Amino acid sequence: MNQSSCCENGAKTGAEAGYEVVRMEKPKGNCSLCEDYAERKKSKPVAVMSCDGACLRGDISRQAANMLCHKLAPESTVRICLGGAFTKDTGQRNLVRTASRLIAIEGCPVNCASRMMAGVIEGLTPEIVRADMLCSFDKKLFGIDEMPPEEIQVLGRTVAEKIAATL
Ligand code: SF4
Repeated sequence: MNQSSCCENGAKTGAEAGYEVVRMEKPKGNCSLCEDYAERKKSKPVAVMSCDGACLRGDISRQAANMLCHKLAPESTVRICLGGAFTKDTGQRNLVRTASRLIAIEGCPVNCASRMMAGVIEGLTPEIVRADMLCSFDKKLFGIDEMPPEEIQVLGRTVAEKIAATL
């Protein structure tokens, strides 16, 4: 049975039930600034990755991760570049692989950050923190253009402060 075939009840089997196989081109270029950053931060015990997405929930998550790592707890945390860590097996992915504590701030139930990284690092089990459940806002809103930037920033700070309290 090939990877795209279906089983009798109509469910897609894939290579393994419940998984999708991705064929990703290896990077041709290199970002020395990113690698230098990863080298400088490798002693930090807590790695923080985030959805970093384009919607309101993703932006709250992204801002919370930035606030946590760059303002509230820069001495103990390192902010992971999700795209860099996922798409290349170099410094950023090593930060995720070797962190004593790994936090994934997610914006919604898709859990993209934790699932992406578990796809490239076998057995990875980050602590998942749902940003949208740690702050209060109108849950009917979706886009970042549906809320003033200052209000999004306040929500991000609220989430960051709650996570910082657990460090
Ligand atoms: S994964 Fe969820 S929170 Fe992240 S950008 Fe997409 S919809 Fe928003």
